[in-house]
Amino acid sequence: RGSMTVGETAKLLHKDASEVIKKLITMGVMATINQELDIDTILLLAGEFGVEVEVKIPVDEDSFETVEENDMDEELITRPPVVTIMGHVDHGKTTLLDAIRSTNVTGGEAGGITQHIGAYQVEINHKKITFLDTPGHEAFTAMRARGAQVTDMTIIVVAADDGVMPQTVEAISHAKAAGLPIIVAVNKIDKPGADPDKVKQELTKYELVPEEWGGDTIFVNLSAKQRTGLEDLLEMILLVAEVNEYKANPDKRARGTVIEAELDKNRGPVARILVQHGTLRVGDAFVAGNCFGRVRAMVNDKGRKIKEAGPSTPVEITGLTEVPQAGDPFMAFEDERKARAIADRRSTTQRQSELNINTRVTLDDLFKHI
Ligand code: GDP
Ligand code: MG
Repeated sequence: RGSMTVGETAKLLHKDASEVIKKLITMGVMATINQELDIDTILLLAGEFGVEVEVKIPVDEDSFETVEENDMDEELITRPPVVTIMGHVDHGKTTLLDAIRSTNVTGGEAGGITQHIGAYQVEINHKKITFLDTPGHEAFTAMRARGAQVTDMTIIVVAADDGVMPQTVEAISHAKAAGLPIIVAVNKIDKPGADPDKVKQELTKYELVPEEWGGDTIFVNLSAKQRTGLEDLLEMILLVAEVNEYKANPDKRARGTVIEAELDKNRGPVARILVQHGTLRVGDAFVAGNCFGRVRAMVNDKGRKIKEAGPSTPVEITGLTEVPQAGDPFMAFEDERKARAIADRRSTTQRQSELNINTRVTLDDLFKHI
């Protein structure tokens, strides 16, 4: 279960519901006692009250999460940052994603037909940036609820003629709960009623203060429609990436997250995944969620067949036995039998819990005090 009511949350935090509701208002969330709060909001709320809450996702013995990260510094290479764009409806997320995508068509891989694979990469100053173009707020929260941390950074788009709106605040909450750096893209500055300074002013309430006002939040004014300011935004993303030094070890079996999956009439189950660690190769056996597979073909965001994909690369793969879910962890195995066994065990466990509703994860399992 990925949410709790305000009342349940209050109990968890040992607070009165009225206190919680008041706190939510200060966070810009209007809620009643029976309203469901998502995990990000709950974590943020807990933070506001200074209570530590651990999100416990049930794990089995072969859980991917138990894999140890013991890479040596010298094994790590800089990887492209993975960026999500969030913001209020109609503030220009899709337009911005499309504009960024097309800035690059002439650059890197000329002639490639851009494919929708849930994410894409652009190159600027010989450095790559990976953009996720699927997660709306819900998908993003669902992924986080399942323990998948796929993004490094969030761009919050705010239309300069409309200002801070409820979903802007929600996006800020999500990004903060996930501990992600935020860049504010003040969009639609071409519009007559645009007032970028007002947006900055409004956002100070959420502790997003521009550098010129003594804060440390990066703001970029742009027009996604007229394609102005896009390079500034990309450069700022690279700057934040440089500061945070995102790294990964390319020399190990691949691990990542399913960002989208579907059943294709001709190709069978297709999964779009983000490789986060290691390198995935055609022929690799893997487990995605409960599904077993062996990479038959791999296509990148430019529609090209590729043989291998390193960290931060989004790819579309075929060769699965079933369709996994968005947010499912993905892991390659050297030993095909082991991969099959894990996929089998996981799907049996899932079937059992579906049969017996009482074995569902209880709230106590999901949210636990430290
Ligand atoms: P989303 O809901 O956040 O994905 O917003 P969209 O990208 O669908 O944009 C909503 C509307 O705003 C569309 O009609 C866009 O053409 C328009 N729009 C987006 N960016 C700009 C911009 O920079 N300037 C102007 N004038 N309109 C924009
Ligand atoms: Mg949209």
